[in-house]
Amino acid sequence: MPPDELRVHGRAALEWVAQYLETIRDTPVFDTPEPGFLAEALPGAAPEHGEEMGVILADFERLVVPGLTHWNHPGFYGYFANSASGPGILGELLASAVNVNSMVWKSSPAATELEDVTTRWLARMLGLPDTFEGVINDTASSSTMYALAAARETTFPEAHEKGLFGLPPGRVYASEEAHSSVEKAVLALGLGQEGMVRIPVDGARRMDPTGLRRAIATDLEAGRRPMAVVPTLGTTGVAAIDPVAAVIEVAREFGVWVHVDAAYGGPAALVPEVAEDFAGWEGGDSIVVNPHKWLFTPMDCSVLYSRRPEVLARAFSIVPEYLTTEQGAHTRSLMDYGIALGRRLRSLKLWFVMRYFGRAGLEGLIEEHLRLARLFASLVEESASWSMASPLELALVVFRHDAGDAVTRAAMDRVNETGRAFLTHTVVDDRVVIRLSIGNIRTTEADVREVWSLLNQAADAER
Ligand code: PLP
Repeated sequence: MPPDELRVHGRAALEWVAQYLETIRDTPVFDTPEPGFLAEALPGAAPEHGEEMGVILADFERLVVPGLTHWNHPGFYGYFANSASGPGILGELLASAVNVNSMVWKSSPAATELEDVTTRWLARMLGLPDTFEGVINDTASSSTMYALAAARETTFPEAHEKGLFGLPPGRVYASEEAHSSVEKAVLALGLGQEGMVRIPVDGARRMDPTGLRRAIATDLEAGRRPMAVVPTLGTTGVAAIDPVAAVIEVAREFGVWVHVDAAYGGPAALVPEVAEDFAGWEGGDSIVVNPHKWLFTPMDCSVLYSRRPEVLARAFSIVPEYLTTEQGAHTRSLMDYGIALGRRLRSLKLWFVMRYFGRAGLEGLIEEHLRLARLFASLVEESASWSMASPLELALVVFRHDAGDAVTRAAMDRVNETGRAFLTHTVVDDRVVIRLSIGNIRTTEADVREVWSLLNQAADAER
């Protein structure tokens, strides 16, 4: 594409982005197409000859966009709501344009150094000491797997050469509420399903440190090897906050690696009013925080912090001849910290976000989400028909209708059908509950009041 053509279509594409974000509030957040709708609308094979970029962009708008669930919509409250901010979008655009690969320092020096700088800035914003070194991965699932690979390296040093065969079974402990990515990592690392030990939770669905101590002691007696404990700060179901300091204390008694899953909750450490949720998290060996969840950075961007980066590197570092460099001995090679050799310039969008909003700006945005969540929870608590299904933690409200599961579920479906809001459900104490996750940069108090009113109308229509 000649530069002049890129200029024309680039301007059009950027104009489209600006308009999309400007009018997103009036677009249905979710439409329900029939599965297969897009495959039917598109040809079965790629075109033999190149097409006009204008036609391609028009098809994107006509065929693809209407079938998207709009995570950028202010009425998006599903899963863990996130959003792409303007500076994040521009960072992503420029990262694609320069298209560097930061395998080693020499393959793109500024990329390696910007990843160091941005992860250090973020750590300081979150109150983590400089002893933590960060790398940026695609997702928390990868970050957690890499952290547990480092834990495996310390627990079973002999496995690096010989594999796990013939060694005692390794065990990873996480609460009953921990994310499935922990179990996936356990599977991928060869520990088998039995390698994952689910620790009971208390009434607020937080890991019980006494149960943890008991589980570790039982495993040791049986000749199994405790490998890692994974407390979560903001669980997926109800945003429960595991008592991280107490969990770390138990893990330390037994010399077990602690990986803190703060994929969702981490950015809230910016806000003093919830600082106590994070007290002691710096005692972990590794921590994952996802700027692509609650720090207004477009997918994908997951920061893995480790106080023992040398162990992470021991787990993954293999340097073939063609990647040896004269700077290798005194610079970081990002390829050493995970499976991926190729790494794109993910730090750029995070750097743009941190500079554009500033620490105080980011704190203000998250504080506002916490306020909106408290507001919505108070509406639920004051209502005669709805109840909280779990104590409010961070910006996730978990609630249900008092008339039972069918009404809860139907009310949620009806609201989703309006296109004004998008909610997702889970099950708590065998009851269907709705999760309202506030994390979108465009969500306002009026939006939150609107979804409350829609839910009440929907529930009334059901009864
Ligand atoms: N940890 C928690 C607590 C999560 O809620 C999630 C996803 O929602 C993950 C980890 C996995 O995140 P990712 O999609 O970045 O792999």
